[in-house]
Amino acid sequence: MGNIDDFYKEVLKFIPEDRVSRDEAVLYSYATDLSSPPGVATIPPVVVLPESVEEVRELLMAADRFRVPVVPSGRGANIAGLSVPHQEGEIVVDLRRMDRILEVNTDAAYAVVEPGVTHHQMSSMARAHGFIQHLPTATGGASTVANALMRPSGNLSAKWDPDPVISLEVVTPSGQVIRTGSASFGTAGWRARYTPFPDLTGLFACSYGTLGIVTKAAIKLHDRGEEERLLITKWNELPPVVDFIKLIIRRNVADSCTFWNWTWNMFHSLMHSRTEELPAVMMKEDQKNPPPGVPFGIASARLSGYREVVDAAEKTAIRLARERGGEYMPEDELKQVHPGSWEYLHSYFIQGIHPKPGEEATMRKAMWLPGWLINAEPKAILELEKFMWEFARKEAKPPYMFRILPFNHAREFFFAFVILIAGTLDKEKEYMLHLKSVYKTLYHELLKKYGAVMFRFRQDPSFLALTGPYGELLRQIKAIVDPNNIMHPGVNLF
Ligand SMILES: Cc1cc2nc3c(=O)[nH]c(=O)nc-3n(C[C@H](O)[C@H](O)[C@H](O)COP(=O)(O)OP(=O)(O)OC[C@H]3O[C@@H](n4cnc5c(N)ncnc54)[C@H](O)[C@@H]3O)c2cc1C
Repeated sequence: MGNIDDFYKEVLKFIPEDRVSRDEAVLYSYATDLSSPPGVATIPPVVVLPESVEEVRELLMAADRFRVPVVPSGRGANIAGLSVPHQEGEIVVDLRRMDRILEVNTDAAYAVVEPGVTHHQMSSMARAHGFIQHLPTATGGASTVANALMRPSGNLSAKWDPDPVISLEVVTPSGQVIRTGSASFGTAGWRARYTPFPDLTGLFACSYGTLGIVTKAAIKLHDRGEEERLLITKWNELPPVVDFIKLIIRRNVADSCTFWNWTWNMFHSLMHSRTEELPAVMMKEDQKNPPPGVPFGIASARLSGYREVVDAAEKTAIRLARERGGEYMPEDELKQVHPGSWEYLHSYFIQGIHPKPGEEATMRKAMWLPGWLINAEPKAILELEKFMWEFARKEAKPPYMFRILPFNHAREFFFAFVILIAGTLDKEKEYMLHLKSVYKTLYHELLKKYGAVMFRFRQDPSFLALTGPYGELLRQIKAIVDPNNIMHPGVNLF
């Protein structure tokens, strides 16, 4: 590792002092996220906030010369410890000041944005132009580009295509600024991911900042339709919902569909009520079974298109649900039972807009959310659900909530503990660390037993080894692009 003082002096030659911090309080704030309580991640020695591609370029070249490791951070909202330092000496490059929407192409349906643009910014812009973007059920303050690069789960436009990224501009540690897809031609615009050459956009997706810093991305936009409607159905168990989700997505009845178990619905309500207290019922030990009168869960689907088509789609979806034991739930009923859930789903599924950062959840400030995303075949998801409830029963210590849900196509699965920061911090930290260590072995077990693959990396290098020659080739590519291994080495991808 190079001399950090010399590096700091070098950086001040091209970035003003007010955007290069060595202030202890600032540095400390970059060492936590929703899955990393204080003391788990490493405090960076320097945090830099570039504002332009040229600054990013100078910065990476200097980091490479001084052998200073770099952690890129979009908006730092991830729940996997992916944008906090894990090794001594790693600096954080916070990209939030690069937050411009550079182009909105309503003809070819994409927008070119910088990495600091939030979901809220992006979704509001898309709506204003008659579009929606791929929008996961993530926080409105998260970076659209960082999220798109990680292959968002639970997005709104599953019907069309789950991959939101078209082309990229990336700065590598050697100072190269490359553009991928049609944008590589300079005069061709950003509209196409595939050209006659191998697809390099894909190389940077799911690379978590280990190969360079993305400074621009073209993100797909989708037509909102003449009519947009939210369809809610309630269910008493998971298997028929998985079947329902598969059908309404594959047969083009709905744009997207997500199932939320009952604690999740209550949680949405709480987010909007701005309380920091969880009702006792949500802390009950047996979280699989809801209290009397509350359905096990609801499925929310987005329907859009011409009015006549949406009318028919709604009728069809209700029939398909009833045939499988599901029950149609008018929006008014949801509003009454889970008002916050209705508010959230309406804004997300119909307007396609996430709340402004800071306006959504006081709850989110009072919790850690170690969440895990995996994909598996729909039939394996049913087995996984049983396994995970058993796992939760064994591992979870109240106060916690266990949330579990399959997304679009029923091939993706999310489970998370929500741990409230209520008691002594040390106890909760110990618990978080315990969960993190248990999950390491859990991933291997899920892969072996159910063929389930994690799709957010978890700092476990033994996972790449399981891919054999694929992993070997990736290591060779990494050695070419980042020979001094300065890009996010602590994330342990390679
Ligand atoms: C309450 C909550 C719920 C969530 N629910 C969902 C959900 O339903 N679905 C879902 O998909 N996600 C979900 N997330 C995760 C979250 O939305 C994503 O982590 C986030 O969108 C990514 O943006 P970020 O600002 O957190 O990126 P960061 O955490 O800053 O970055 C993510 C990764 O990308 C790298 N990176 C960031 N920017 C760049 C760049 N410009 N160039 C190269 N590398 C970069 C970072 O080093 C890091 O490895 C949720 C998060 C929260 C807090």
